[in-house]
Amino acid sequence: MQTSHRPSRRRFLSHAGSGIVALSLLAPLRHALADAEPQNAITPQAALDRLMAGNARYAAGKPVQRDFSAGRAARAEAQHPIAAILSCADSRVAPELLFDQAPGDLFVVRVAGNYLNQDVLASLEYGVAVLGTPLVMVLGHSNCGAVKATIQEIQKPQALPGHIWDITDALQRGIEPVVKAGGDKLLERAIAANVEHNVARVAAAQPLLATAVQAGRARVVGAEYDLASGKVRLLGA
Ligand SMILES: [Zn+2]
Repeated sequence: MQTSHRPSRRRFLSHAGSGIVALSLLAPLRHALADAEPQNAITPQAALDRLMAGNARYAAGKPVQRDFSAGRAARAEAQHPIAAILSCADSRVAPELLFDQAPGDLFVVRVAGNYLNQDVLASLEYGVAVLGTPLVMVLGHSNCGAVKATIQEIQKPQALPGHIWDITDALQRGIEPVVKAGGDKLLERAIAANVEHNVARVAAAQPLLATAVQAGRARVVGAEYDLASGKVRLLGA
């Protein structure tokens, strides 16, 4: 899906070794070799640290001032996102903004209720297995309408219009135990349960994601974004 027209590292080295390349050309050569390491050749923990540091900047109202045209030519050639995010479609949850990351940094899949289905799985597999993304984050958020609707649907089933029932049907399995158990802060606990349910499903998804997780090439984490504070909280951490 992505191509690179840059000379390979091997070709660079063989030319340098043959003496064809003048000494004055070695500086840009070294630069090219340094650039050959993609930005996502980092550990899952390093990727997570970058996200959380970015969220701290965002929540504090101190995001990095960016020139979005910078790096555009390189991005046209390839992408090396540091994290794949499965986020809710909610208009108030914007992963690139709330993690203060640039274009090319995040591979974002969004669906109302941030749940795994076949299409979402295919996209996450592409992010991890093809693009080499070391981190997958399932990102829920406070006051999620999809989770709210699912709670209502479990408590008192009703005819939802159009295809909206597909969402509540998909979320039901992860949320039902919380609703059945009852108690206070039902919505908050259901939001967390939905994230954790989908983290487990993503991490166990065969054949690509489970293999990447077991080999330590990728990690799957759950988190929740608080609409009021702008802060992301890791779940199960
Ligand atoms: Zn939502």
